[in-house]
Amino acid sequence: MTTPIRVAVTGPAGSIGYSLLFRIASGSMLGPDTPIILQLVEIPQAMNALEGVVMELEDGAFELIAGIETYDNPNDGFKDANICMLVGGMPRGKGMLRADLVQANGPIFTGQGKAINDFAADDVRVMVVGNPCNTNALIAMHSAPDIPNERFSAMTRLDENRGKAQIAKKAGVGVEAISNLAIFGNHSNTMYPHFFDAKINGKLVPDVITDHKWLKEDFISTIQNRGKEIIDARGASSAASAASAAVDHVRSWYTETPKDDFVSMAVPSTGAYGIEPGLIFSQPVRCDGKGGYEIVETLELNDFAVEKLKLTEAQLKEERAIVKDLLK
Ligand code: NDP
Repeated sequence: MTTPIRVAVTGPAGSIGYSLLFRIASGSMLGPDTPIILQLVEIPQAMNALEGVVMELEDGAFELIAGIETYDNPNDGFKDANICMLVGGMPRGKGMLRADLVQANGPIFTGQGKAINDFAADDVRVMVVGNPCNTNALIAMHSAPDIPNERFSAMTRLDENRGKAQIAKKAGVGVEAISNLAIFGNHSNTMYPHFFDAKINGKLVPDVITDHKWLKEDFISTIQNRGKEIIDARGASSAASAASAAVDHVRSWYTETPKDDFVSMAVPSTGAYGIEPGLIFSQPVRCDGKGGYEIVETLELNDFAVEKLKLTEAQLKEERAIVKDLLK
């Protein structure tokens, strides 16, 4: 019998959590042979709602679920966790600026980072969804000095998935034909989907999609503003697609990436592409199948791309300045 993997999820009573937990339980994230113990970490006010979610999980009769534990505090909630998915966070209220959101959520991630540092399993990997996810991951990483920095990441996979879907639609092909789409920077409207090196059935996107104005303008702004468009249409923010991307993110982290492709993850910069080391910056990575990865540093960026990277790097530095007191 394989030892179960302990997966801790924060915000499990929220909208993303509601989709995410069932995908994890079905085996979509860690495969059909890996039993899982779910450690669901909520705030005390949401524990009642969480009980309802747990009942539904039980009603799913998922064979891979070896246990469901609920916690109202991070110290107990992250104990022995192998994978921590930090989804929960204060939602962006009406009229709230990004700076307000950064300030409101920052302290949550110091507490969670410290708890992970002190109580999680030795092999823990941490991924952050709760926004502003890059800066929240930075705070958690700084609050966990005993855990190697490369174990912390933030999710830009939804941006990658959105980009691949838009390119596939424009080219009239299936999404499986699209590869090598790097997302650079912050998960925000400065994020840059680098289409120049992306491929459609192995051919460079700009050689197949000859409408370069569409690529440089409409494509980029569609991906950058997709979240808002969904809110306008649906009356609520995207949740199922974010949950699906979180599953993709973790699955890719533990799967060997094909040698001729890469996936996008926001990870601590090591200086690749001229980005300041230490910032949590989305970039192309290749995972080794054992929870490790290497940054793909070989893309040759043109002036257009370099300018986009500078813009999103500047925004991350601004966010970092707002939370500087939380970074030890
Ligand atoms: P959601 O489950 O919809 O979203 C959770 C977080 O994910 C938000 O920060 C949200 O940011 C972010 N997010 C990242 N990518 C996306 C995306 N593509 N689409 C939508 N959201 C995205 O929020 P709910 O309000 O439904 O649930 C929040 C949960 O967190 C609740 O269970 C609540 O109890 C818990 N919570 C936990 C706290 C803690 O741990 N201390 C504090 C406060 C709440 P954005 O708002 O920018 O969309």
